[in-house]
Amino acid sequence: MLSLGSRAAIRTAGRNGVRSVPMGLTHRFVSQTNATKSTLATQPTIHDAAPAHLTTPAPDAHLKTLSKSELFSLGMIGMCTINKPILDLVIKLFPFVPLFMVKIFISPLYCGGDTPAEVVETGKRLQERGINNMMLSLTIEDAEGTKNIDINHIVSETISSVHTILKPLLLEQLETAEDINSIPPGYIALKPSALVANPAKVLLNFGKPEWKAQRDDLVSNCSRITQEVFNLNQELLAKYPERKSPFFVSTIDAEKYDLQKAGVYELQRILFSKFNPVSSPLISCVGTWQLYLADSAADLARDYERAKKEGYKLGLKLVRGAYIHSEPNRDVIYATREGTDANYNSVMTSAIKDLLANGEKSYYGHLVVASHNYESQMLATKLLQSQENCAGKANVTLAQLLGMSDNVTHDLLTHHNAKNIIKYVPWGPPVETKDYLLRRLQENGDAVRADNGLPLIKAVLKTALHL
Ligand SMILES: Cc1cc2nc3c(=O)[nH]c(=O)nc-3n(C[C@H](O)[C@H](O)[C@H](O)COP(=O)(O)OP(=O)(O)OC[C@H]3O[C@@H](n4cnc5c(N)ncnc54)[C@H](O)[C@@H]3O)c2cc1C
Repeated sequence: MLSLGSRAAIRTAGRNGVRSVPMGLTHRFVSQTNATKSTLATQPTIHDAAPAHLTTPAPDAHLKTLSKSELFSLGMIGMCTINKPILDLVIKLFPFVPLFMVKIFISPLYCGGDTPAEVVETGKRLQERGINNMMLSLTIEDAEGTKNIDINHIVSETISSVHTILKPLLLEQLETAEDINSIPPGYIALKPSALVANPAKVLLNFGKPEWKAQRDDLVSNCSRITQEVFNLNQELLAKYPERKSPFFVSTIDAEKYDLQKAGVYELQRILFSKFNPVSSPLISCVGTWQLYLADSAADLARDYERAKKEGYKLGLKLVRGAYIHSEPNRDVIYATREGTDANYNSVMTSAIKDLLANGEKSYYGHLVVASHNYESQMLATKLLQSQENCAGKANVTLAQLLGMSDNVTHDLLTHHNAKNIIKYVPWGPPVETKDYLLRRLQENGDAVRADNGLPLIKAVLKTALHL
């Protein structure tokens, strides 16, 4: 086990000055920023458990499971992502594409539906593919604070979606499953920037007394949803005492760097201490760490220590990070993709090993490996293989966005017996999900191109023509 427990600290000279990093993590901690190289005595390496370079599975196999209309839509995506200039043009033109065309050609691939009933159907279709749960995201966002959205409506719709979408889909599976711990939890994604008026200012001033009323509003809105999740977890645990992972989880999404540092991390801590006390066998809240951030491993190590001291569990969603192209302060992100990859795989490995070694006593509580990266997902899958019926394994879930890296998802399900897979499913009013789709194109442009383009067009044609 790679313990984060040691208080010994190594001083590393980072671009933001000297920082203190708890020992257990630092021998893996990679600093590859432009300005300075890590001064650690131990050379940073990708974790020794990391697999040799793997080739991402071809899309052909999973395409056979799609309908003709889905294949057609995917072919269109292939054409839009065939090269960078075309993708950039598509991104520019996307806001002008009529809503009905988005609804017909794009939304079915990437969005769960407009209404709870449509999302339930999406959940059932995913189950047919072996993806037994979802992370639901009611997509109504207002990061700039300009839309005058009804936040109470978001809170009540989100709570209602746990009852009308996630609960029936999970209960049906629990009734029939051979092993109830093989069904991953149902997740609700909470975007802090959608849960308070004037979100950027509130998050940036989270610690200031003059912003206490707005900060309390945000905490209260997240708490109302998470309390519902907590109550349901206790209720269902009484009915299914052999369950080792939560039934439902409230998940706090990560925002841009300055909002994370000033507000979201603290918001997470408040929610962890309320809803993940060590006295409760199941956690109910998960937070997000963006591992493209050079200081993410150190931040997580500090949070781990604090959780231990204050008697609560963390709950992790690990992502590389969505704001690589729009982050105003590029200096905070690893200078190379390899740096990000090494950090991701190292932190993820530590968390899985800790969960496997300590089970329900692990202060990591629960882990969502939220990534489209085949090597990271294979690394997690290999670490979990041969571990049966243990709390640690039940508390690791692999997640991808709906419609993205379906070849990776399909491979994990069919060739590696992974049962712990979910999809992040945005749903809600079409105008809002159109915004989400644009954001995905912008933020995930690289991932989209890697998955798509010419290879996708060829594979779609081959499948459609049964070659
Ligand atoms: C379920 C789920 C929930 C998510 N929630 C959030 C969230 O709340 N907040 C958030 O920010 N993100 C979130 N993400 C992540 C985000 O949407 C992207 O999907 C993700 O960061 C892309 O990385 P990947 O792990 O999928 O890896 P890959 O598909 O391997 O993509 C790696 C990409 O990372 C980029 N990259 C990373 N670091 C560097 C670097 N240093 N230099 C150059 N390029 C680099 C490159 O563009 C590269 O193409 C979530 C993802 C999932 C699946």
